[in-house]
Amino acid sequence: NEEPLYCIGCGAEIQTTNPKEPGYTPQSAVEKGLDSGELYCQRCFKLRHYNEIQPVSISDDDFLELLSKIGKTDSLVVYVVDIFDVNGSIIPGIQRFVGDNPIMVVGNKVDLLPSSFKRTKVKDWLRQMVNKAGIKPVDIELASAKTNQSVDNLLDAINKYEKNRDVYVVGVTNVGKSTLINQIIHQSSGEKQLITTSKFPGTTLDMIKIPLDNGHYLIDTPGIIHESQMAHYLSPKDLKYVSPQKTIKPRSYQLNEGQTLFLGALGRFDYIKGSKAGFVVYADNNLMIHRTKLENADDFFEKHAGELLNPPIGKENVIPLQRHEFKITDTSDLVIEGLGWITVPKGSIVAGWAPKGVAVLIRKSMF
Ligand code: GDP
Repeated sequence: NEEPLYCIGCGAEIQTTNPKEPGYTPQSAVEKGLDSGELYCQRCFKLRHYNEIQPVSISDDDFLELLSKIGKTDSLVVYVVDIFDVNGSIIPGIQRFVGDNPIMVVGNKVDLLPSSFKRTKVKDWLRQMVNKAGIKPVDIELASAKTNQSVDNLLDAINKYEKNRDVYVVGVTNVGKSTLINQIIHQSSGEKQLITTSKFPGTTLDMIKIPLDNGHYLIDTPGIIHESQMAHYLSPKDLKYVSPQKTIKPRSYQLNEGQTLFLGALGRFDYIKGSKAGFVVYADNNLMIHRTKLENADDFFEKHAGELLNPPIGKENVIPLQRHEFKITDTSDLVIEGLGWITVPKGSIVAGWAPKGVAVLIRKSMF
């Protein structure tokens, strides 16, 4: 029975098992920290020594508590979403929880979209998507934390809307919030040494505060895990085939009804009814797409999933897929959350398949 240890930076209980949760510290660093009398969790250590922010996530309950605390402040909320996985980035009820505070939506990872996607159209589209989720943002910005694209514009927009308030940056895990904040820190150089962690009054949640020019703060908050994210079903090895790192190259297929496309062994698209038409797949460029006859598709999956059809790699890692059928009334995207989307023509009947728990949905087409 060991006494719990606490990080002297953020106060989180030290743990050595889950790198994504608060308080994580490698065992060797715990020993060093105890020897030197300065035990920091890995996140605070990196913040102190490298001014680098690392992602951390918390439970749904803690997250809602955090949002409602933000609701009691007078602040601007910068809500970061992943433009490749908008559905997976939605925080249900966020508008209600943050109260009267304005929300700015940032569509991050815009570098993944082909240049044929016009920025103004993507912004309009994103506005419609978040409106549908009950969010009425004061502004929508697109950014790429990775390539540093439009981070200047984003900072200008934040300056415009903050109106002498603190700025809280929120988002589900994996949308690139930490990468974005690190870019912002590196752009507002000179103030790096002022970055601090602080506890939100009355909670054990640690926040990272970055001073802004006006005496207020930009505050990073822990992320929330979206259970339906594809990422939770995959090993890190398989993940690299499903989270695009480079601009997506759209892949086009002419399909007749009765044809199926497999997206590795993680997704499947059936063209059930409609005339011969073009379908465009937007997914990681490394994800293999395999065309078969619909009537043979079940057998094909049975035989080849985990081998010819991958990821996942290895028969033992194969996850059964669940079927979702749709009648398409308008040209739309069929989205397999976290894996990508396929454009589908008006008047067709299609089915999308994904591991149980991963959302498959129809949305207004992005392009
Ligand atoms: P967080 O959990 O929201 O803090 O997300 P991270 O900042 O850890 O980023 C999650 C993943 O998305 C990492 O693999 C990043 O490299 C990647 N990522 C972050 N920003 C961008 C971006 O603007 N474009 C692309 N293509 N990838 C990004």
